[in-house]
Amino acid sequence: MNKKIIVIGAGISGLTSAYLLSKKGVDVTIIEKNDAVGGSIESVMENGFLFDRGPNSALETTPVIGQLIRELELEHEVLYASKQANKRYILRDNTLHSLPMSPPGLFKTKLFSGKAKLRLMAEPFIGRSNDGYYQSLAEFVKRRLGQEFLDYAINPFVAGVYAGRPEDLSVKSAFPKLYALEEKYGGLIVGTIRSIRERKKRAEVAKQSAKMLSFKSGMITLPKAIEKYFGSNILLSSEVTSVDKSENRFSVSYLQIGTINKIDCDAVLSTIPSYIASSLFTKYDKEFKTHADTIYYPPVLVYYLVYDRKDIKQDLDGFGFLIPAKENKSFLGALWSSIIFSDRTDETKAAFTLFVGGSRNPDFVKEDRNSLLLKVRNEFEELMGISSDPIFTSERFWEKAIPQYNLGYVEHERFFDDFEKRNPGLFISGNYRGGISVGDCVKNAALVCDKINEQFTMHNVQ
Ligand SMILES: Cc1cc2nc3c(=O)[nH]c(=O)nc-3n(C[C@H](O)[C@H](O)[C@H](O)COP(=O)(O)OP(=O)(O)OC[C@H]3O[C@@H](n4cnc5c(N)ncnc54)[C@H](O)[C@@H]3O)c2cc1C
Repeated sequence: MNKKIIVIGAGISGLTSAYLLSKKGVDVTIIEKNDAVGGSIESVMENGFLFDRGPNSALETTPVIGQLIRELELEHEVLYASKQANKRYILRDNTLHSLPMSPPGLFKTKLFSGKAKLRLMAEPFIGRSNDGYYQSLAEFVKRRLGQEFLDYAINPFVAGVYAGRPEDLSVKSAFPKLYALEEKYGGLIVGTIRSIRERKKRAEVAKQSAKMLSFKSGMITLPKAIEKYFGSNILLSSEVTSVDKSENRFSVSYLQIGTINKIDCDAVLSTIPSYIASSLFTKYDKEFKTHADTIYYPPVLVYYLVYDRKDIKQDLDGFGFLIPAKENKSFLGALWSSIIFSDRTDETKAAFTLFVGGSRNPDFVKEDRNSLLLKVRNEFEELMGISSDPIFTSERFWEKAIPQYNLGYVEHERFFDDFEKRNPGLFISGNYRGGISVGDCVKNAALVCDKINEQFTMHNVQ
């Protein structure tokens, strides 16, 4: 194709786009500020325990994940989540209740009251809201499914996915498929049944039925494999400081070991967080900053705790548990990491990943770290019936963890779409557009790659 592109950022978004573009014959260079690839994906081996400090797994919601695994020859590295991990718990009144996965399960569960179950049955008879897309997830769910379902299903669920709050998140932007069920089919139950057929045609898999996977050496395996594919075309420890345009070409400047270097190219793909992208692209449009800086990334603290299994009373037969805000705990939930992927410890031990903060409690950053760990441990150990101290602990603090698709996000989305149309050759991507999960980042990277190829092809024809 004879085109040169610079991809800024070697997180999963940048790496996937770069890989797919390179396969199409585009000349790609990736520039990454850190001294390692992966961005939010970090897997470290400490004291013989594998700690995934960012994402612990990915859902195979797009065929592109399978394509990457095959082409990068990672089939033997893949680990699928254990069957047990299908079972998830929610905390209510200091008791872990398994989340019902079927209508009979819903009927039997003590997680919801009889009144809440009756309220769910009214869902097909509830009309659309007049507020259109300007509804929070909380408003949407309360109207369609009732307050108790919001408090004990959706509230903990969004803490688990976004580290977010349903009162802040935009239903259309954060859960576009949920919003579309009402918009397109008039309701969630009817819509779910009809959309299953359509998804099959597109070879896409619903999040709730997609396979969950990781790798023997943790999530970093995928970024590392793409890094190996690119070899010297990834510049690490190199911070992009400006993107300049002259005629139809761009010049990207980056700081590497105290020296500013430049590379010329036909196009630039940014996959860095919005609050950093604003410093590079506001000169092209002063509104860029207004949108990019408004997107909120709350802090999250991740704890990794390993215990002797004999000291744990709770049956370890699931994915872990999530905590509704109403339960007033100092953490959001816990993954039972060595149950999800059984090779994470030997069978005499059990490893857990706990999350603190997010939009629910960003003020945890003001607390003394040692006291916070003790408080979280006490609550966790009481809930799990753990009678000993952990044999290993580790933590990772993310100052700006996950972008929140809050109310008003639709305007940001429109702005970025428009910005790209007005600035051919500049492409704005990353987890603040098109979904935050690893699966969504990969799916979106493929869409971005198509968009870039289309522009290159049109340019060639002209
Ligand atoms: C604690 C945590 C847990 C999570 N758990 C899950 C999970 O279990 N499952 C799931 O699917 N998702 C999970 N996610 C979300 C998911 O991991 C991220 O949304 C995704 O990895 C983001 O990828 P990205 O490439 O868009 O951005 P990033 O990973 O943020 O990558 C951006 C890259 O840009 C680089 N960069 C920044 N500025 C510059 C510059 N000026 N020049 C050059 N490079 C620069 C950064 O160093 C970084 O490497 C989690 C996220 C966090 C933080």
